[in-house]
Amino acid sequence: MAWNLCVANQKGGVGKTTTTVNLAAGLAKLGRRVLMVDLDPQGNATMGSGIDKRTLPLSVYHVLLGTATIEEARVRNARLFDAGCGYDVVAANRELSGAEVELVELERRESRLREALALVDDAYDFILVDCPPSLSMLTLNALCCARGVVVPMQCEYFALEGLADLVNTIRQVHANLHRGLQHIGLLRIMFDPRVTLQQQVSQELEARYQDKGQLFQTIIPRNVRLAEAPSYGLPGVVFDPSSKGARAFCAFAQELADRFATA
Ligand code: ADP
Ligand code: MG
Repeated sequence: MAWNLCVANQKGGVGKTTTTVNLAAGLAKLGRRVLMVDLDPQGNATMGSGIDKRTLPLSVYHVLLGTATIEEARVRNARLFDAGCGYDVVAANRELSGAEVELVELERRESRLREALALVDDAYDFILVDCPPSLSMLTLNALCCARGVVVPMQCEYFALEGLADLVNTIRQVHANLHRGLQHIGLLRIMFDPRVTLQQQVSQELEARYQDKGQLFQTIIPRNVRLAEAPSYGLPGVVFDPSSKGARAFCAFAQELADRFATA
């Protein structure tokens, strides 16, 4: 059974997409079979994986509406496979923003993605879903197929604000819709150890969440190479493997692979 993890945080610009594409590449580099699903109409994870969102015949939109299967909709960037970091992509573009409204009409609208992914479960070790910056029907679809949620957060004063809403949503999904949703892990990202406040917030996170196993050990530093990589259509892990950011994401992939060993 694949480990299905969604990367969620209803705040924008916190590093969800950067985490998703680099984790996908990092896990692939470790030899894991990975599928990445872009569930944000902005299509940043799609473009950041080198897939042109403007020329997609099929996307996650069609999967959600049931007019295409994952097998039909998934695409690949050969360059990532050449680099030993290849993963399959179910892409997204602006069309997806219409899905929210169209899904309202359909039955089991929160489990559309889960049902579609069930058909390819055997083909992957990890399925990673990049969520939009909202607690919408799209994010609900991601949570309803996930076994765990990765929450990227910056170590700043308001980092924990909004976390309660997300945790609440996760609890409700667990209680009412999907018992399999069991894990949550906070990931510190864009970390700058020279900033005292960031160190303080990081320590606060450790005090509150480490013992519960809800805080990842790996910390992703602020690193300009990670920010440059998407304009080349590559995850940072492939764009500049020796950069600090890439090495941190490879360490994070290893941490996840160890924690979620195949089962
Ligand atoms: P989200 O998907 O949550 O909106 P992104 O992953 O798109 O967030 O990140 C927001 C911005 O921050 C992007 O421009 C991205 O390149 C940049 N960024 C993300 N992580 C890092 C990092 N560790 N170091 C430097 N820049 C980063
Ligand atoms: Mg994003």
